[in-house]
Amino acid sequence: LISFELVNKWYGEYRALNDISAEVRKGEVVVVCGPSGSGKSTLIRTVNRLEDIQGGSIRFDGQDVHAPSINVNIFRSQVGFVFQSFNLFPHLSVAQNVMLGPVNVRKQKRAQARARALELLERVGLASKADAFPGQLSGGQQQRVAIARALAMDPPAMLFDEPTSALDPEMVGEVLQVMKALARDGMTMMCVTHEMNFAREVADHVWFMDQGRLVETGLPGEFFSKPQSERAQKFLADLR
Ligand code: ATP
Ligand code: MG
Repeated sequence: LISFELVNKWYGEYRALNDISAEVRKGEVVVVCGPSGSGKSTLIRTVNRLEDIQGGSIRFDGQDVHAPSINVNIFRSQVGFVFQSFNLFPHLSVAQNVMLGPVNVRKQKRAQARARALELLERVGLASKADAFPGQLSGGQQQRVAIARALAMDPPAMLFDEPTSALDPEMVGEVLQVMKALARDGMTMMCVTHEMNFAREVADHVWFMDQGRLVETGLPGEFFSKPQSERAQKFLADLR
């Protein structure tokens, strides 16, 4: 569903992605891990064209992401992307935040979009907050709204870049629960996260990056018990 073929990315002289080839299959959860600066965010951001690439290709649900003919704004609105900061519109209610894409981009009727928003808020455990404003919610609740907002566009896959790392520890669990439920429902997911328990429990595959390379991919059971590369061994040892 998401495929990378010899993807290369330079920031000026610096090669941030080095010949990345890999695939996220339909219904699969891939957790991307690796040390700070290894290129995890860069990789995930190339999928919705927040970053351009200088070599190779990326396909998302059959579309060549970096083809010049793609309308970036429409394309991006169709890729579910959740990152550290939630970026909800503070002057809109929770439900209005969730309805925004369907109403503005999909031209859905407001009543229909609201009904769907309420369903999605129910799914992330926030039905009672539909008419609250983002400022009245905790960080964990805001992040769950951000997930509902992404789901409102019926994305074929969801991308997460450290969705819990800006949260207070007591709020991490509620966001991970929502992500686990999504995974259980068959959503295709690519997640950059340092939550290794989540990776162990939920991931179908773990990708380990270092210095712009995809050094190692494996089943979580194998990756965590016997990582192949020295770099991954060191990375995991440092976490303990
Ligand atoms: P972290 O775990 O800290 O989030 P990461 O694995 O997500 O790290 P990236 O943010 O993808 O790493 O960055 C990879 C490399 O590219 C880093 O060395 C970083 O300094 C560099 N880099 C990232 N964004 C830019 C940019 N806009 N301009 C120049 N260099 C950049
Ligand atoms: Mg990052």
